[in-house]
Amino acid sequence: MNDDLLGRHRAVLPDWLALYYDEPLEITHGEGRHVWDAQGNRYLDFFGGILTTMTAHALPEVTKAVTEQAERIVHSSTLYLNRPMVDLAERIAQLSGIPEARVFFTTSGTEANDTALLLATAYRRSNTILAMRNSYHGRSFSAVGVTGNRGWSPTSLSPLQTLYVHGGVRTRGPFADLDDYDYVAACVDDLKDLLGHSRPPAALIAEPIQGVGGFTSPPDGLYAAFREVLHERGVLWISDEVQTGWGRTGEHFWGWQAHARSGPPDMLTFAKGIGNGMSIGGVVARAEVMNCLDANSISTFGGTQITMAAGLANLTYLLEHDLQGNARRVGGLLIERLRAAAAHVPAVREVRGRGLMIGIELTKPGTDEADPAAASAVLEAARAGGLLIGKGGGHDTSALRVAPPLSLNVAEAEEGAAILEDALRSIQ
Ligand code: PMP
Repeated sequence: MNDDLLGRHRAVLPDWLALYYDEPLEITHGEGRHVWDAQGNRYLDFFGGILTTMTAHALPEVTKAVTEQAERIVHSSTLYLNRPMVDLAERIAQLSGIPEARVFFTTSGTEANDTALLLATAYRRSNTILAMRNSYHGRSFSAVGVTGNRGWSPTSLSPLQTLYVHGGVRTRGPFADLDDYDYVAACVDDLKDLLGHSRPPAALIAEPIQGVGGFTSPPDGLYAAFREVLHERGVLWISDEVQTGWGRTGEHFWGWQAHARSGPPDMLTFAKGIGNGMSIGGVVARAEVMNCLDANSISTFGGTQITMAAGLANLTYLLEHDLQGNARRVGGLLIERLRAAAAHVPAVREVRGRGLMIGIELTKPGTDEADPAAASAVLEAARAGGLLIGKGGGHDTSALRVAPPLSLNVAEAEEGAAILEDALRSIQ
């Protein structure tokens, strides 16, 4: 690697910052659904969509909005009236589906969840939180305290009492063989059992589709069933939409809508790509919950005019171009292509997903045993073929994650599927 950037990285940054690839990649520029590395190699980007670049790399509309705002002013976010913040908050409140919605902007998903937990514990006067096994909610003190995925949850003396609930993933474990109906019933019983044996919790925090966990979905309606049990007891439901928001799942604008039978969550959190690269996170909550704090607050960088301008331009673009519909159509085609390809690869246990959020679970052929080495090998082979994908999964990272920018077109979907097919075949 040029000028030993990797050596310098290792010498000065924490060991726990995970890096992809045997020879880590330095991405230097991008356009549309493509990125280039420092050596000038071009890649189709099937992962950046869930990281930062939800819509497209170097989207001119966002670049223009950011540049114009940077040239005008970037000042304190919250001490003075902030027009782009109010504009974006109005649009998100209206899209959220939460009645009397209030919006608070942060700079990351971690901080969004941290804020949601602060609100829930203050509102309910309880520091007990329900979270899902295998979940990921961020890296702060409280967020690791509700992260069930042990690979991403370092030992910390979290001040929260966390109770982990079944339902996020069922490829393995005691409920693996149940059908959807019995599975939901078993998870609800598990939840009731926990509620019967603990102090009243403040909230349940859950990802509608587990992201870092490998793009695993519970049966539709699980969270509706949970919500009924929780609401009877006044427990709040926080839907972590950091990966599932903004139409990525194709069928719905938010992940929680697959569970909408009994109504919206009390809070939702968002982040990642809404700024198409600018750092925006946030919480949407019912007014009563958002306004429960009994002291002032301020945010220096949450909601700066520059990030809000990016968010507004990006949201406008994605709505005007119906990128949710695009995720449904192109994602549907991609998942079909990947399922057809996987049928010839015994290591693929399952191709799952919704819209442009597709997971491929790898096991040692003919067994149920997770195969993280195979996942790494496919990641490397795809890169060699000119395609970037991600990894994820439970305690073993044995799933591949496909999450391209939402503007992916059919030709790119076909091209990426062909590269991934070759990469999967190469590990046989
Ligand atoms: N929640 C979920 C569901 C996430 O996937 C992530 C990031 N992987 C976070 C929260 C944390 O977001 P950030 O990295 O912006 O802090």
